[in-house]
Amino acid sequence: MNISAPEDRRRRVAESVLPGLDLRPFIGGKYVDAATDAMRRVTDPYTNAPLVDMPDCGPEDVSRAVTAAREAFDDGHWSRLAPDDRAACLLKLADLIDQHHDDLALLESSDVGKPISGTIGWDISNAATMYRYYAGLAQEAVRDSDIPGSKRAYQHREPLGVVAALVPWNFPFPCISWKIGPALAAGCCVVLKSAERAPLSAQALARLALEAGFPPGVVNVVMGAGPSAGAALVADGRVDAISFTGGTATASALVEGSAKHLPRLTLELGGKGANVVWSDADFDQAVAGTVVGMFDVAGQNCCASSRTIVHEDIAEPFIEAVVDATRRRQLGDPLDGGTQQGPQIDAAHVQHIDRFVAEAKAQGATVLIGGATPPELGGNFYAPTIIDGARHDMRISQEEIFGPVGCIYRASDLDAAIEQANRTPFGLSSTVWASDPDVLDRFVRESHVGVCWVNTFGLFDPEVPWGGTRRSGYGRELGHEALREFTTAKTVYWER
Ligand code: NAD
Repeated sequence: MNISAPEDRRRRVAESVLPGLDLRPFIGGKYVDAATDAMRRVTDPYTNAPLVDMPDCGPEDVSRAVTAAREAFDDGHWSRLAPDDRAACLLKLADLIDQHHDDLALLESSDVGKPISGTIGWDISNAATMYRYYAGLAQEAVRDSDIPGSKRAYQHREPLGVVAALVPWNFPFPCISWKIGPALAAGCCVVLKSAERAPLSAQALARLALEAGFPPGVVNVVMGAGPSAGAALVADGRVDAISFTGGTATASALVEGSAKHLPRLTLELGGKGANVVWSDADFDQAVAGTVVGMFDVAGQNCCASSRTIVHEDIAEPFIEAVVDATRRRQLGDPLDGGTQQGPQIDAAHVQHIDRFVAEAKAQGATVLIGGATPPELGGNFYAPTIIDGARHDMRISQEEIFGPVGCIYRASDLDAAIEQANRTPFGLSSTVWASDPDVLDRFVRESHVGVCWVNTFGLFDPEVPWGGTRRSGYGRELGHEALREFTTAKTVYWER
């Protein structure tokens, strides 16, 4: 990016990036006027200034989008297109994302409040990588298990149909790509309901999809509130699959709302990540990894290391070092390249975080650092916070906070550490820092999660699946596994 001052970046967003967005629903290959007059204001979490007002779509717009996707799927122009031709559209989309990379990063940082170093360094390019990766798998998505000829029994994999994609506000642009990349590669048509608190990069994506040449109705984008637009989408009987990323409570509503028509469900939900630090761990690496795990994306991260279980022998120096490193974190303007932590998504979310901390304090836990809004930064910020002495049965130890708050616990043997790590209803991700291969191996085997990081944190490789177990959801994104979420097997018996 050739502009670096935050104020210049903010000016570019206001004068060039936002005016270039069409904020209307994107249905059937074009932007159309919304069926509703209701508008939603989108604000910058850092300045609280309005960014745009956009149509707050409801059930009627959702229904139009599903009609467009259904017709596009049923006419076979996309679903029966040669996989290479589907791949060409996905590759073109990835190239367009690269071409608009910096403006997309500015848009995402302004909308979500995420530091520009992260959106430039990962979010946007990760999405481009996903579209490229799934372009490469378009052929494989629907490959038959055996070529019919000599066999009497064989299997086709076929695209499932219309996919409803629902995404959260913390990683909008990558989350969208993890869903619609494999769905489109498989030959499905998509209705994307963007996150109402961070909808802007989805609007930009719609334009890029148009430019990339996807046929009308293959990609549709509507923005609207979860309880109206989202609920209407999941209840629509013409939807064959729902790919949802969001909170566990929302997922329960979604399962109920879609129960009548039984769509395929992929649920990527919340977490309460354990971060186990053993006495023989590389100390500095574990300290750095713990701090990033606790506070990256201001803790608004499904895989945040919200519970650190440290070996008693190193507990005191380790905690001191983590608190020290936390004190050095740079909080501030997300459009400043040096910022490590921006604001939370809004003031209501700050209050939600603070309630957890206040309750834990009232129940006897100790705040080692943080525990409040830094006065110089104002209402949407929450200081990176470390809590000691929380019991495992407290709410702060059991529920997803989705903020920059990490709790520390101690263990003197591996049984106790693993037992504590598994003592929540969630099962998304965990991390372990140790040298002894037996410790690492046992933790990997016995940690009840879908993803386990060993002496590292936060790596995502397109080739291996991502997803959780227990109340963190079911189904998988990424890798070949994601293709299965969007295809169905047809078995053929053929007497020759
Ligand atoms: P959320 O559950 O409030 O909303 C997610 C999406 O669902 C939004 O688009 C929302 O509009 C929609 N929605 C809300 N109510 C609905 C309903 N009744 N029917 C249909 N759709 C509805 O979640 P959020 O606050 O946007 O995101 C934070 C959550 O997402 C956290 O729990 C976080 O852990 C989770 N998350 C998980 C992953 C993962 O990969 N497992 C990744 C990112 C975020």
